[in-house]
Amino acid sequence: MVSRLISVDRWAAGSQAYFLTHLHSDHTNGLSSSWANGPLFCSRLTAKLLPFKFPEFNLSLIRILQIGTWHSLSLLSPSGSNTHLQVMAIDALHCPGSVMLVFRGDFGCLLYTGDFRWEATCEKAMRSRDMLLGALKDQMVDIIHLDNTYCNPSYDFPPRQVAANQIVNIILSHPEHEIIIGIDTLGKEDLLHHIARVLKIKIWVWPERLRTMHLLGLHDIFTTKTSLTRVRAVPRYSFSIETLEALNKVHPTIGIMASGLPWLKTGLLTRGTRSGSFRISRSKRAPVIANCEVQELTEFVKLVRPNSLKGIVSSSSCYIEPMYYLGRHCGIKQPAKQLHTKHTSKGSIERVVAVNTKASSLSDEFVESETKRQKTLKVKSSGFRSTKFSALRRMGHGAKISENDGPDQ
Ligand SMILES: [Zn+2]
Repeated sequence: MVSRLISVDRWAAGSQAYFLTHLHSDHTNGLSSSWANGPLFCSRLTAKLLPFKFPEFNLSLIRILQIGTWHSLSLLSPSGSNTHLQVMAIDALHCPGSVMLVFRGDFGCLLYTGDFRWEATCEKAMRSRDMLLGALKDQMVDIIHLDNTYCNPSYDFPPRQVAANQIVNIILSHPEHEIIIGIDTLGKEDLLHHIARVLKIKIWVWPERLRTMHLLGLHDIFTTKTSLTRVRAVPRYSFSIETLEALNKVHPTIGIMASGLPWLKTGLLTRGTRSGSFRISRSKRAPVIANCEVQELTEFVKLVRPNSLKGIVSSSSCYIEPMYYLGRHCGIKQPAKQLHTKHTSKGSIERVVAVNTKASSLSDEFVESETKRQKTLKVKSSGFRSTKFSALRRMGHGAKISENDGPDQ
């Protein structure tokens, strides 16, 4: 029997501590207003938004992870003694509140990216990069659980700033048109903010989305009055060719899907396709994508130089094992001359909670799980230990004193 200590984006009973990377639905499947399986760790912003998604959620279960701060947890080991781990949340730049998580303890060091974007030209990404390097300064990462949503060279999309400018240009080139932009219930706020700032306009959103915008501190840009603007952000699920066709019978309208769907190298905008008598040139797809493309993943893996990689997306039709493309950037494992490091933290450590949940049959396995496409990873604590790493690895030299066995999966 496998019993779990912690879970990431997975909500079944049996773990002692639960971590939520962000509030997109594919990461909260199983979470509900009545959920009561244990303490839930998340960023402050996610904690602020969570009751909006789950109105009756028991707020006493929420534990805030300060970005860039080590937090210590004490869990109950299978033998009944305390086992300790530390966790740091780092901004994942995916959607409001999203974080990646660094775990370290007797089991080694694990980095769980969740969904993330790592744009080289983005100042926020640079801050996350510095924070990550600071967190890992004396630590080898044994495994990265990597956002491999677009881990395929056939996907090619630009930084979000570039895509945002494409959308601005579409709007500017259609001055007589109404504009509708398909978005999700969370995310793309920076895009809308950019459009509003550049064009000096307000943007219509539906009432629930306006509440979210206000929770995020965005008060002046958005409105629910259609008379104030020709640009509307609408729920992606309501965005269809049929809807657009109907709108065009009333007023010339351009539809823009700010989509995270795959974007191939053959073109940036859908145009000129016929659907019955309706010309789909009024429908534009703009690659405002909140997950990494391959080059960004490559830079990320080269930066961290983990021992191994594992994709967090496992059942997508386009799933590709990250090791296939990125494995050459991983560190080279050495035979069993490991160093068992004690985690003497040099930064501030916040002790959030001592989780002493009774667990009758915990094994000595550390198990990290996530819901996104139903994958569970199991790592034996005896399988690898903390390792020293050479500072040279960040310069690409990667000399490491390493571990014996890899994770048991
Ligand atoms: Zn997401």
